[in-house]
Order: sequence, then structure tokens, then C-alpha cells
Amino acid sequence: MVHGTNSLKRAPDPYTHMVLEKDVDCPACGETNAFYRTAATTLHLGEKTKWRCPECGFGYVEINGISTLSA
Ligand SMILES: [Zn+2]
Repeated sequence: MVHGTNSLKRAPDPYTHMVLEKDVDCPACGETNAFYRTAATTLHLGEKTKWRCPECGFGYVEINGISTLSA
């Protein structure tokens, strides 16, 4: 009765059209790191994904591939 998929194993993802990692300029580190996706949610306005820096743990949200980081 294991019903959680919130594990560290890299299981096949239903969102296979999306990447799981990508290079992002981390504003906290001041350098480019391979951010990893921590979550994906489908909203009425598109797809919301969360990304996190592996170095410092800085996270941000993207909606439809548009970063909320942009200053
Ligand atoms: Zn960072």
C-alpha cells in the first residue's frame, strides 16, 4: 500500500515533456547552477513549476516557463 511518490528515486515522470534540470543564474550564488525541478502543478493558466538551486537551496516558481525571478 505504498502510495507516495515523494521519494528520491528517479522514477518515470508523467511530465516527460518537461526537463527536470536546467541551468539558471542563481541570484543567491551569483553563478549558474543546474537547478532541479521540485514540483509541477497544472493551473488553468498553464503549468506551474518550482525550481531549486542545488548549491544554496534558493527556489523560485515558473508559470508556463516564465520565471517569477525577473526583476
Ligand atoms: Zn544558489
